[in-house]
Amino acid sequence: MEEPYTSNVRLDDLQVDEAFWGPGSTPIVKTWLKDNYNPSVMPTLATATIKGREGLWLLGWRNEGTEYHSLLETIFNREYAQVQLDQVEAVARDQKPGVVCPRCAFNRFMPYVPGQARQPNDPAPPALSRADNKTHICSECGTDEAMMDMRGEPLPEPDEWPLILPGSFGQGRRQL
Ligand SMILES: [Zn+2]
Repeated sequence: MEEPYTSNVRLDDLQVDEAFWGPGSTPIVKTWLKDNYNPSVMPTLATATIKGREGLWLLGWRNEGTEYHSLLETIFNREYAQVQLDQVEAVARDQKPGVVCPRCAFNRFMPYVPGQARQPNDPAPPALSRADNKTHICSECGTDEAMMDMRGEPLPEPDEWPLILPGSFGQGRRQL
């Protein structure tokens, strides 16, 4: 994205990215802006051009430091905004390189592809699971298995995976 913020935008020219604002949101967003948006008291609209896509796209407004909520939340409501943001996040997560580790279902690793060099942003290469000596797992899980092995603990078999490790959903992450 270039040209991150523009203040004098013609509302008619604005593009609404429904992947962010939600399916069918264009008329709702535009109508709300026409009926309610007052640039002299409300935050400046944030827009951007998107590489490879025509037009000026609405990102939201610059409500940082104001008493206004995000534009998404203001036009719709908090629950809707949260659902939209979660979805956008999930899509972004799916587009990350690498595959999700089957043991922890949390970390990613980059599978070996013969003849293909690793890219700088690629996740780490996998470790071979000691549980079956054939399944690739993330390097953190590889370390975890090595530690369990050293302590003489039985290794959870692949059919018991994924282990309850992720701390990202508030379940608490088992110490690796
Ligand atoms: Zn893992």
